[in-house]
Amino acid sequence: MQQLITASQVLIGPAQQRIQEGAVLIQDDTILAVGQRHHLEQQADENARRRDYPNSTVLPGLINGHVHLCFDTSPQFLESVQQDKDSDLLLGMAGRAQQALASGVTTVRDLGDRGGLSIRLRDAIARDDLPGPRILAAAAPLTIPNGHCHFLGGTVSGEAEIRQLVHHNAALGADVIKVMASGGQITPNSPPMWASQFTAGELSIIVEEASQLELPVAAHAHGTEAIAAATAAGVSTIEHCSWQSANGPDRRDDIAKQMADRGIYACTALSGNWRSIMKRLGPEGTEAMYGRLVWLAELGVPLIIGTDAGLPGSWFDDLVGTMELFEYLGFPHDQIIDMATFTSATAFGIANNVGRLQPGYSADLIVVDGDPLTRLDHLRNPQLVLARGREFRASNRQEPSTDAGDQNR
Ligand SMILES: [Zn+2]
Repeated sequence: MQQLITASQVLIGPAQQRIQEGAVLIQDDTILAVGQRHHLEQQADENARRRDYPNSTVLPGLINGHVHLCFDTSPQFLESVQQDKDSDLLLGMAGRAQQALASGVTTVRDLGDRGGLSIRLRDAIARDDLPGPRILAAAAPLTIPNGHCHFLGGTVSGEAEIRQLVHHNAALGADVIKVMASGGQITPNSPPMWASQFTAGELSIIVEEASQLELPVAAHAHGTEAIAAATAAGVSTIEHCSWQSANGPDRRDDIAKQMADRGIYACTALSGNWRSIMKRLGPEGTEAMYGRLVWLAELGVPLIIGTDAGLPGSWFDDLVGTMELFEYLGFPHDQIIDMATFTSATAFGIANNVGRLQPGYSADLIVVDGDPLTRLDHLRNPQLVLARGREFRASNRQEPSTDAGDQNR
């Protein structure tokens, strides 16, 4: 089936590249052409489904670089993920994936689940058994005995077990290997956030083993020492990247510059709940927590946007909330939109198919009111969400009032 979508503006991405009075022509799950409306009107089949969106913008579907579909956002998320049967957990994950999709997120990177369930969900979505975003899945993160998120099943000790689990996750079909390079916040009786869980040598083994399987490595690292070790090992992305030490904040320009030189992305995995967190932290705490984003950018570290959705207070439909944090910190809108589309696709090695509106690319796009380059909150409540050419309608979403599609189906 062909679909022709027209709008007053098509943001093809990146760097504000746009077409006024533009259109996107789609064949099944793939973008066939992007261009001026009158050109594409001539190119489209007579029976193409047509939808016109005046005063609206078409742009690539958004990418959330850090989620946990297996966490249900409730205060009891830890009990649920440990106690639910696979079948129950999977149903919840499918629902949460759809919440993300309804909000315009057409790709998520799931950085840690139990039993490879996110891989099963990914495959079911790819088969069109159910709607959902494209999922890049990590399966169980590598961690140490009683380490951060050990309950997800990724405990390893020593080189042999490390290599074994990397191979196990790859055999399950993982798209990325996740390692908990430092402690975290949510696991009772585990190492503190700043403490390293793996040696630099062990991280290098993980990267070496993963790269033989052609898989990138995402390293969870709060501690400066863990960030340094992950950088030296050559991971693809550093998650959280919060520069902590036993004695408080510990930003290191030299390490950040190494990240920049090696093209290692920082995905700071912050929720859209930042306004209330800032109130609680006060000015000094706010600078330690959020000022690092500005500092990293100034040193040339490429930034991408994730939310850690699934943790309490981090919802699956609020990527825009985290994008607004970057706006608050003074990042330009076009750069923020790139971070959640093109830059993330590049970081994840999928930029030949996702993150831009280009002929031959996956038909992942959203239509929003007005111009999100002038106001980011226009990205909320998209009028249309297409994932691989399929329209997704959440049951509680309104039909766009300008939908002229039924004339020409
Ligand atoms: Zn996480």
